[in-house]
Amino acid sequence: MVATVAAASCVIGVDLGGTKLLAGVADEHLAVHHRAYRQALGLETGDLLDACVAAVEEARAAAPADIQAVGFGIPCLMDQERGMAVMAVNLPLIDVPFRDIMTERLGLPVIVDNDANCAALCEARVGAGVGCSELVLLTIGTGIGGGIVARGHLQRGASGAAGEPGHMTIDADGPPCPGDCPGRGCLEAYVSGPALARVGGRDTATEVINAARSGDAAAVEAVAKMGEKLGAGIANLLNLLEPEVVVVGGGVAVHAGDLLLEHAEKTARARALEPAASNARIVVAELGIEAGMLGAAMLALDGGVV
Ligand SMILES: [Zn+2]
Repeated sequence: MVATVAAASCVIGVDLGGTKLLAGVADEHLAVHHRAYRQALGLETGDLLDACVAAVEEARAAAPADIQAVGFGIPCLMDQERGMAVMAVNLPLIDVPFRDIMTERLGLPVIVDNDANCAALCEARVGAGVGCSELVLLTIGTGIGGGIVARGHLQRGASGAAGEPGHMTIDADGPPCPGDCPGRGCLEAYVSGPALARVGGRDTATEVINAARSGDAAAVEAVAKMGEKLGAGIANLLNLLEPEVVVVGGGVAVHAGDLLLEHAEKTARARALEPAASNARIVVAELGIEAGMLGAAMLALDGGVV
């Protein structure tokens, strides 16, 4: 859509992924005016920070109005108070004072948050949870990301590390967590792309899902089993948070769709306490690959107070 009215002010939202990063210029109505992409895969820390700066500068140069702030959604554990990227699995960001570095290099106010928090905020405001003030998001990919919105605000915990549903214990005697986590039997040990590929006996989760769609009985069973584990995790979330809506996103969930969600929903409703068991909606994410960027832009527009 072409903006017909000049934007009064704009922000930049950046979604920093393990393979690439996207910086988008958004106005106060969340219309996106320009997108700048950079590769992130295999970069050292310094080169990654340079790529962030370059993408933001490209976006800033193309913006139709002055940029007020920049929001970054980063797949890592964040220390919110210090703006510190504490630990990331897929990016070289360990104890990096990300907010201070970007503030200095960009000369703009910078807000940083976990990428799944950004996506959760976006789904709550303009996606699958629009109109809801209580939402939980799970994103299923290589592992599980998550975000919690309560009373319309992101719940970040004491330092910013809250909202990690992938590390809920589903089986106390289960296998060691495949993530960088000391737990055992975590949800993401059973619910992830690699877990589905392994259980389904294929190289990738996509192959298992495609086989299930073609009616392959073993693949259908593998997806159903993963759905049941996911449902057990969602039942925990329903009991703990009583959300209005549970949004399940990420490549694996979006691709599998109802094949997965149907089993997750059945298990969650059978196991959770009322009234959440009956009332909560359990749905696939709506906003796709730009949810993180748009959520980061929302944070920037709100000055990081959400
Ligand atoms: Zn874990």
